Amino acid sequence: MDHLSRLPRRFRIAIRPDKDGYLGRECPNEECSIRYFKITPGTGVQEPAPCHCPYCGYVGEHNEFFTRDQVKHAHSVALHKVTDAFMKDLKALVPRNQPHSTGGFGIRISLEVKGRPHPVFHYREKDLETEVVCDQCGLRYAIYGVFAFCPDCGTHNSLQMLNKNLDLAGKKLALAPCTEPDLAETIITDALHNTVAAFDAFGRETCRVHARAATAPDRAERLSFQNLSAAQSRLQELFGIHLAAAVTEDEWETACRSFQKRHLFTHKAGVVDQDYIAKTNDTTAVVGRKIPITAHEVLTTIGILRRTARGLSDHLDRASTTHESEPP
Ligand SMILES: [Zn+2]
Ligand SMILES: [Zn+2]
Repeated sequence: MDHLSRLPRRFRIAIRPDKDGYLGRECPNEECSIRYFKITPGTGVQEPAPCHCPYCGYVGEHNEFFTRDQVKHAHSVALHKVTDAFMKDLKALVPRNQPHSTGGFGIRISLEVKGRPHPVFHYREKDLETEVVCDQCGLRYAIYGVFAFCPDCGTHNSLQMLNKNLDLAGKKLALAPCTEPDLAETIITDALHNTVAAFDAFGRETCRVHARAATAPDRAERLSFQNLSAAQSRLQELFGIHLAAAVTEDEWETACRSFQKRHLFTHKAGVVDQDYIAKTNDTTAVVGRKIPITAHEVLTTIGILRRTARGLSDHLDRASTTHESEPP
């Protein structure tokens, strides 16, 4: 029984990254809606750190995050080694050419060892939808969807994703001066639309993540940011936060006006209505006429939104920390 006796008492089975350097991970929290993500070992936090689920925020040791396929693979490798050793030992016990017994009566039995060791289960890591490099710790990771907590440092990526989308809108705007007027207008209104959509997605996600710190968490999870003035009042009510705290009054007015212009382009073909005049105090606008929009105006709004978003993110982080440190 040489082969079996030589087997170690414990197997160390390597779980290797895929061809792109990603290692699959799976959140152990059964209530987590998505669970599967990938990280690149060697990037991110260098000292030993726990793993954060990018979707539900569950924090645990890395060995809690093996995927079901990885565990199945490890079991199959161990079983393969044991059954392989067992079969080799069995074959050694039963020689191939057993001598025929001679003389006397009796039943002649010959034994033959057939079969193969337990097969190894192979798997492939899944393709995911968004690749992120954490701007705080440098971890390269991949997720379903867009928003996530960094698996290494736990930082939520909503602000990073907003800035990435605002960068794209800025690149789009840079194309406007090189094109004919009709196309330039489409490019500018598209960039405005993308800017508002990116800020709305950021605001919603940030409030959802920090909803527990709100006076009414269920309402905080459903906040919209397509109308800046309305969002400002609701944030004040739910979190005691002043959304415009990081910018000047004039800048805030410019951003609110751009958001109202986006509303006109989306719902009124860009034609001014009384509602727009009432909400913006735009003395240059005339009801029934097209609202003007320039690349400079959208670029200015992008800059204002970056600072507004940073301010909101910092405020909500502080609100959550205070909320968690308070006795229940
Ligand atoms: Zn999770
Ligand atoms: Zn990170």
